[in-house]
Parts: sequence; C-alpha cells; structure tokens
Amino acid sequence: MPEQERHNRAALGGPRLLLRRLREAMAEPVSAQARLDKIVVHIASNMVAEVCSLYVLRSDGRLELFATEGLNREAVHLTTMRSGEGLVGLIAETAEPLALSDAQAHPAFSYKPETGEEIYLSFLGVPVLRGGNTLGVLVVQNRARRTYSEEEIEAMQTTAMLLAEMVASGELQSMVRPGEQIAVRRPLALEGTAIAEGIGLGHVVLHEPRVVIKQIIAEDLVREERRLNESLAAVRENIERLIELGDDAGAGEHRDVLETIRMFANDRGWLRRLTEAVRTGLTAEAAVERVQNDARAKLQRSTDPYMRERLHDLDDLANRLLHQLTGQSFIAEHDDLPDNAIVVARSMGPAALLEYDRKKLRGLILEDGGASSHVAIIARALGVPAVGDVTNITNLVEAGDAIIVDGSSGDVQLRPQPDVEAAYAEKARLRARRQEQYRSLVDTPCVTKDGVKIDLHMNAGLLIDLPHVAEAGAVSIGLFRTELQFMIAPTFPRMNAQYQLYKSVMDALPDRAVTFRTLDIGGDKVLPYMAKAEEENPALGWRAIRIGLDRPGLLRSQLRALLRAGAGRELRIMFPMVAQVSEFEEAKKIVHRELQHQKLHGYELPTDLKLGIMVEVPSVLWQLDEFMQRVDFLSVGSNDLMQYLFAADRDNKRVASRFDPLSPGMLRALRSIARKANDAAKPLTLCGEIGGRPLEAMTLVALGYRGLSMSASSIGPVKAMALGLDTGDAARFVNDLLDSSNGCETLRPQLHDYAERNGILL
Ligand code: PEP
Ligand code: MG
Repeated sequence: MPEQERHNRAALGGPRLLLRRLREAMAEPVSAQARLDKIVVHIASNMVAEVCSLYVLRSDGRLELFATEGLNREAVHLTTMRSGEGLVGLIAETAEPLALSDAQAHPAFSYKPETGEEIYLSFLGVPVLRGGNTLGVLVVQNRARRTYSEEEIEAMQTTAMLLAEMVASGELQSMVRPGEQIAVRRPLALEGTAIAEGIGLGHVVLHEPRVVIKQIIAEDLVREERRLNESLAAVRENIERLIELGDDAGAGEHRDVLETIRMFANDRGWLRRLTEAVRTGLTAEAAVERVQNDARAKLQRSTDPYMRERLHDLDDLANRLLHQLTGQSFIAEHDDLPDNAIVVARSMGPAALLEYDRKKLRGLILEDGGASSHVAIIARALGVPAVGDVTNITNLVEAGDAIIVDGSSGDVQLRPQPDVEAAYAEKARLRARRQEQYRSLVDTPCVTKDGVKIDLHMNAGLLIDLPHVAEAGAVSIGLFRTELQFMIAPTFPRMNAQYQLYKSVMDALPDRAVTFRTLDIGGDKVLPYMAKAEEENPALGWRAIRIGLDRPGLLRSQLRALLRAGAGRELRIMFPMVAQVSEFEEAKKIVHRELQHQKLHGYELPTDLKLGIMVEVPSVLWQLDEFMQRVDFLSVGSNDLMQYLFAADRDNKRVASRFDPLSPGMLRALRSIARKANDAAKPLTLCGEIGGRPLEAMTLVALGYRGLSMSASSIGPVKAMALGLDTGDAARFVNDLLDSSNGCETLRPQLHDYAERNGILL
C-alpha cells in the first residue's frame, strides 16, 4: 500500500478511536503533565506522525511547549516563541490550520535547535480555540514529505477542541513556572465606552448563559447526525415562523437580521462543516461549538465591520441550535443571582435589565451598545455602573470570573491582579466619599460666587427615576423623555397607561415642574413592536415630531393623556426635532384642539399650559427670532444638535469622538441661542449630555445658560463647579477666547486651565 494512502486510511478510520483514547486518558487519575504526555503519544500514533507537540499560550503572549512526542523532551517548558514567530506562532496569530508538505520552504519557518525538529519535513498545525480565541497550538510532524488530507486536518481540529477544554479548565496552570500564567485565565484590561457612571466590583453573570456542553465525544455517530439534522430543521422552522409573524412576534428582532440568520441556516458550506465535524466523532452540540469557534476566529480577525457584524448573526444561529440541542435556557436565572453580579451581555433590551435584582446588580457590560442605547438609559436611571462597546467580551469571560467595571472611564478589568483590584476598590471608596460630599450640597442653593442663580434640573423618563429628583436636589424635571415608557413596554402603551404614568410623575413631585417631551421615536429610538420604516438614513428620517404630525392620532392620544394628567396644575409640553416654525404651529394647533375637546367633555384643564421646543436641528438657529415670538420656553438638545452640526453620528464612535463640543463651531452656535433667548427673555435650558459635565457646564454658564438639565448623578459635580464660579469673569474669558480663536479644533485645554487657575472644581 503506498505510504500516502496508508496515512489517509489510518487517519480516516482513526478519529473516533483517537477521541475514545483521549477521553480515557483524560479520566485517568494522573498528573496533568503525565496526562498530556499520553495524549500527544496517542495523537502521534493515530495520525501516523513521528511528532506531536502541544504549545500553550501564556499570558505574556509566548507559546510554551507543554508536551511532545518525538521532539527532545528536555525542550518541554523551555522552548517558547512569540505569537507570530515561526509556523506555530503564525497559527496562533491567524487562528487557522496550516498544513505543509515542505515546512522548511515556508517563509515563516524558523526552528528551535533544542527541539531537534529540523529533520522533519511535513508539518500540520491547528489552533487550540475557545470562543474564537487562541489558547495554544497542536502540531504533528513527519520526517517524509507528506500531504495531510482535509479529513486529517478536520480530525486534528476536533482533537484540539478537546484540548481546549483541558486548557480552559485551568488544569495546566500548575505546570507553568512560578510567575508565569497560561493565557486563558490571564488578567485582561479592556476598553469600552463609558455609559453609566460608577465603579462596580464583582463576578461575571452572563446574560445569555453559554450552553454547557456536557458530552463532547459521541457514543453513536448515526444518532448524533440525526440529532443535528432534526435540530437544524426545528431551528429553521422557528426562524421561518418568526419571519412570518413579523412585527407581531414582539421578539424585538428585525426582519433583516432574521433573514440573514435564515440565509446562514441554509448555507451549504456551514451545513457541510457541521456534518463533517459530527463525523469526526463529536456530539452534535460539540460539532456546532467547534464549527462556530472556527468561524469566530476568522470573523473576529476580519477588518471589515460588515463581516464582524455577520459574526453576530452566525453566533445567534449557533446559539439557537445549541439551545435546541440541549434544551438549556436562553436567559440567566434571575432567582439565584449572586451578590455582586456584573452582568455581561452581547446586547440587551431596556426591559431585560429591569428584571435583575437591583440590590445584587453591581455593573453591566455590553459588547454592542453605547451611551445612547436604550439599556444605557435604564442603567443610568438605576445607578448601575455600565460600560458598552467592549469588543468580544462575551467570548473572553467565563461565568463567575472576577471583573471590575468602571463606568466613568469605560475601562473593564477582567480577572484583575490583587493590586489592580485594590486600586479600584480604593477608587470606589473615594467616589463614595465624593458622593457623600455632593449629598451634603443637596440643600445648598446653586448660586455662583457672584450671586447668579443656576437652575439644575434632572433628565428622567421612568418612575424609577423619581426618587433621585429629591435625593439629587434637582429643581425640576427639565426633560421627561416620554418615549422611554414606549421603549421598554412589550406593546404600544394605550392612552390610559400614558395618563397613569404622567399623573404618577406629577403627583410624586407636587412642588416641582416637569417638562414632558412628546414622543421622540425613530432614528436610534426604535420601538420593537412598531413596524420599522426602511430608511437609508434614519437619523435624518421619519422621526419625533415628524411622526407626530404625520400620524396625529398618536400625538393626539399622548396630548390627551398629558392634558388629563395635568388637570388643575401647571403642564409643560416640549416638542422634539422641530426644524421649522410651521411644525411648531401645527403641533400647537393640535394641542389647542385637544384642549377644546377636553373642555367640551367636562374635564378639568391645566391651570397653566406652557409649550416649548427642543433646539436640536440646526435649521432652528436661523429662525430663532421667529421661534422666540411663539414659544414659551426652549431647551437645547445638544446631543442631536452636535450630531447634525458636525454631520457625525452620535452613536458612531469613529466619528463622534472626532469632534469636541468645546470647539469654536459648537460653542458659537450655543452662544447665539443663549443670546437670542436671553434678549427675548425666554426661559432656556440645555438638556444634552454636555450639561452634566462640569467643564462643559462651566462654559455653558459663561455663555449665558442659566438652566441645565442632566442625569441625577451629574447634579452634585455641576453644583460643586458652579459654587466656585464667577460668571462675570468666566463670561469675559470664554467670549474673548471664542472671538479670538482662529481655526483651532477645541478650546478644551484653555478652558481647563481657566478652571484650574480659578480653583473651580471639575
Ligand atoms: C439631545 O438630543 O440632546 C436630547 C437631550 O435628546 P435625546 O438625547 O433624547 O435625543
Ligand atoms: Mg435629541
């Protein structure tokens, strides 16, 4: 029999036998090293190779030879290489198998003399992967020139999956030299976007628990293939049903996502890979995990954001399949939430966060979702420290891992070293002390050094926000985002439900005004149960007051709920995204018609009705005189104003961080609004995020703003800033700076210096 054929036969007939041998080896009560030594012997013999070696990735980024059959034994735990160095390093870096019949001819080839590997010509290496991350590299080598078949590569990948379990279990940690660590358990410092302030120390709870694969090696291949096919059929059927149900499904899933998932579920290549993986001897669920691991490794390394996005769809499909196969639950059990839980999720809807026990929840980390995601709004309202946009976090953590979330800086520390943990614990204590100081300011009026009163209002949108109003010492609710009730509800809230909420809010705050903003949906604020209009450019599309005016039924029922809730008291209503005077006029007409309607039906009316607009579409800046004649008040929505002025999507980190709100362009726009409003004696506030940041707030006060609306946690810091400010002096400084700036990107450094020089707390 020719040698090549003998190799093929042996390897083809062998994977299941090998897996069985490996399973036996893993169950033996011997040391981890003795176990690994046996494993490499089995693999070498099964693959008809002279050499089999396992390299494990250490936390310092080096791959260490952990076991070998065929190379010099003395090299074990001595030979190391960088990721990217030599063929083994190349596999670790690319996370892809590499099969070479003449390894020495490969440009990346380099050899370690102490191993004696220079005499081997053929080389097959596969990455040891978990969650798409490289944990090590498994290699076989042959002295003679040899072509490794697809089946052999497949068998090696399956074997590597088994080894990944062993590496991930932490069992190998005892084998490294003191001071070294294997990569899988290594501490990681990760960066994301700060979305809700505060520091949380705790342990990982996966929002969507990973399916635990209890059995990797199949007992009965035919049965596993049948299980795989049946589950695939069930998942496909389920997806079809969801697509058919469309928006009635209430699952919050968009049709295009489901359609992409359906496309993957019918992809021949994917189905073939799954079947092949089962045929190497894996259970159906282990096969899904293996194939998904490879896909993750590939797509994670893709520089194309579209491809990375597809990884989520593929992950979603693999998850559905795993749940179908194992019958395990999709969502974390809320009942046995550990104390100090830090919830880690790929993405999360706002209602889901509310289901966790707030007392045990110490933090939230999202892979997808930044500061303006809906769940971020809830996290801020609940005071849960949160960080978003943390790349690949769900694949890097294991349930129960120690983790720290810093919602002020956007940092995440996974499996922190004791000194890092101590530093954060100290930071958290300091923060608590500072909060204590802010609390002592609650009853102090916010008056600047030169006697100017600054009104600090709070942004809210849910009942859970209300206790914070008094706690923070806010003078009123400057922005009540009514869409939040709609965003977290499973179905469209009826007029009565809206009325109940508005009434509860006003009842809870009898001495404080509440400015209700009418529904600001569309754009980034999507309602899961509402048909989504397909728009090329939703931020510039059908949203907010545009929907309100085109669908007056919707606006009317909200206005009715507001007017009824405001019976016998002051009612303030504000319209979002107004771009021209006629829109405000039209909205006003609807309000007055509704007032008449209420009167006719004998309802008590509000004693005082004030109507205002958000200034957040740039066109308003050149119609300010006209608006001043018509509105009772104005509030600058700097989040949107900034996005539209700079044509930079507020949710797109790449472009949003390019432009500074403290740039001359933005500040001049803000100044012109303040001047016009002050000249016309119209009450003006600003309710975007910048109002809650002390340096920005200082600048706004200097530009003439006397009312700022912000999240509850910002009121203390902004008040502390304002108490040390001389508005007259600051106004001179900022106006001069703005008038003399010529072409600079930002005035932040100069403003910062000014605050420091004048002892203003930031
Ligand atoms: C804004 O745009 O600044 C604002 C306050 O509104 P929202 O963030 O809800 O769009
Ligand atoms: Mg806005």
